Amino acid sequence: MREAGKAFLYELLETPGPSGYEQPVQARVRSYAAAFADSVVTDVHGNVVVGVNDGGAPRVMLAGHGDQIGFMVQHIDDDGFISFSGIGGHDATVLIGQRVRVWTQGGSVQGVIARKAIHLLSAEERAKVSEIHTLWIDIGAKDGDEARARTQVGDPVTFELGVTDLLDDNIASPGTDNRVGVWVAMEAARRVAEADAQAAVFAVSTVQEEIGTRGAQTAAYAVRPDVGIAVDVNHATDVPGADAKRYGDVKLGSGPVVVRGPNINPRVFDLVVAAADAEAMPVQIVAHPGPTPTDARALQVAREGVATGLIKIPNRYMHSTVEVVNLRDVEQAAALLAAFIMSLTAESDFTP
Ligand SMILES: [Zn+2]
Repeated sequence: MREAGKAFLYELLETPGPSGYEQPVQARVRSYAAAFADSVVTDVHGNVVVGVNDGGAPRVMLAGHGDQIGFMVQHIDDDGFISFSGIGGHDATVLIGQRVRVWTQGGSVQGVIARKAIHLLSAEERAKVSEIHTLWIDIGAKDGDEARARTQVGDPVTFELGVTDLLDDNIASPGTDNRVGVWVAMEAARRVAEADAQAAVFAVSTVQEEIGTRGAQTAAYAVRPDVGIAVDVNHATDVPGADAKRYGDVKLGSGPVVVRGPNINPRVFDLVVAAADAEAMPVQIVAHPGPTPTDARALQVAREGVATGLIKIPNRYMHSTVEVVNLRDVEQAAALLAAFIMSLTAESDFTP
């Protein structure tokens, strides 16, 4: 990965953007894309649309969702403890003991997610899996007045952000779902900008995917794409106990995942695989039998229908603080998308 690209990826991972509060991430995307884009537009929903070769054909929309799961402040009690709800899907068992940051209008406040110490739990409490509404965030405030002076109901919260470098080009970080998808969409657009493409590319950092693919829906309406490719993460099944028979055989570092199934236009699938073959790039094929829980679900049924594809980065421990991805997979996904886009012409037909 080139240095500037890697720096941009780490910057994305260190910037907060829970669903509905993506604008810090979107600001980073805008400033990075300004160097190569023909147009950069932010819509009223908060999507950032980066255009390259805007007048070309066909029109290809790339969707990497810029939002991440998070929390929000629901209630602050008179002792200063914060009750919170989840934005997006959470596993409550990974929350206890996590360091978090509350993003307030006046800057961020550090806190920790807590429950009673193990010694103070009754036998019944010990046996139960904690639910989010029984946990709290402790920011160390001396009372409710101090807590309410620093944070407000509705403030977004994220895990403490930051990247841990692991062996073999693997990294662990909160929010690799789906900052790697944003990165891939932007990197593919940057590569196409350096080449001589017939297609127009609109790389979109979409909002609110984690709460129902809502940004992709409005962005696709405005972009009016012929082809829409979502870029997201896919459960790696190379960990103890993961069932490849149910979820496919997906390994970190073995290349991007290309999804097949009813959510995917078969011609787009064939062209993506052909582009990978032509460049001798490894890909891992995964089947999904219905609308996928990704922006591809919204893209496919936008307007009168969009020829849709889905490229995914293998990811271990999704929706935790330590989501692991491999940087080679991330880079290869961008190279694959750029090669696919370069193979398209104004005559490309996606009718199945
Ligand atoms: Zn995602």
